[in-house]
Amino acid sequence: MPFKRTTLPSKDRAASEPAPASAPATGDAAVETTPGDGKVAPSPKARTAARRVAGRPAAATARDDAKGSGAGTSIAATLPPGLKLIGSHTSISGGVEESIPRAVRCGFTAAQIFVKNNKQWFAPDLSAESIAAYRKRREEAGLVVFGHNSYLINLGSPKPDIIDTSVDALAKELLRADALGLPFLVMHPGSCGAGSTEADGLRKIAAGLDRVVEATPGVRTKLALEITAGQGNSLGHRFEHLATLLQQPYAAERLGVCLDTCHMFAAGYDLRTRDAYEATFRDFESIVGAQWLLGFHLNDSKGGLSSRLDRHEHLGSGAIGLEPFGWLVSDPRWTDIPKVLETPKSEDMHEDVENILKLLPWLKPGE
Ligand SMILES: [Zn+2]
Ligand SMILES: [Zn+2]
Repeated sequence: MPFKRTTLPSKDRAASEPAPASAPATGDAAVETTPGDGKVAPSPKARTAARRVAGRPAAATARDDAKGSGAGTSIAATLPPGLKLIGSHTSISGGVEESIPRAVRCGFTAAQIFVKNNKQWFAPDLSAESIAAYRKRREEAGLVVFGHNSYLINLGSPKPDIIDTSVDALAKELLRADALGLPFLVMHPGSCGAGSTEADGLRKIAAGLDRVVEATPGVRTKLALEITAGQGNSLGHRFEHLATLLQQPYAAERLGVCLDTCHMFAAGYDLRTRDAYEATFRDFESIVGAQWLLGFHLNDSKGGLSSRLDRHEHLGSGAIGLEPFGWLVSDPRWTDIPKVLETPKSEDMHEDVENILKLLPWLKPGE
């Protein structure tokens, strides 16, 4: 598919320059939400449950975390050691380097982070100290950490100025991710205008990806196109959409795919029975190809099959149910693919630990 190669606007917007007029008002630099949720939802009941989990000797080690991140929480739940490449979206509040101790405290072996405030177009450059501290901590912890881009970025926008800003912002996020040594940055392909055809929208997104790749030569961090729920006019909710974007000749070696179980299910890919699970991944392997898969988002779904609703739910509490997550984490095809949760959580992330502990019968600690 020949896509016309275009270039970035020559004006190189400084990272610290105020957001363009098209951006919504920017707020507190520490603002951060969980993808697909946007809410922090601590409840007294959940906290009690977490303490029970933390006290269960075989499942988790209770840790007296007097300096813990959760306000008023003295005991945080922790995963048993040795679980492979599993964790959750982890906050960078206080600096990217602060994400590592948060993930380590929970016993994660994988984590996803935003590389900057996800509600702003641009951010001041990361300091050399922050980058060095992040790299040292990540290395020592042996964590696999990847990124997720800002929600504002939309390479499929019907407005050319939004596409220009998106290209610029995504290129800058990619440079930040590369400075941190992240293997990939997850991005939503984009959302086109109501009047646009899927083919036109995908062509626009592919052209945008070309521009981002061209603006970031030598960057090793890949862009992982995340499957979407197909909410509104968003593209990327069919395996065929992802395959089309991966087929473009210029950027292909810089791209990959991230599968979000909630999005897949809401988009119509059933996972609820063993047969449905196998059929869905057979389709994925034949239409997209497993060699492109870089990461999983493990989220149950508030909406039903084909609901196109992007609302994440705790594992086993949504329309997918717990078992398919067990099949996924024990599927030998996905052993080396990092898997992170993006489900509702409070600051200490004990809900994430609880969710992952539900998968212990399928996970094999110590291997
Ligand atoms: Zn996402
Ligand atoms: Zn996701």
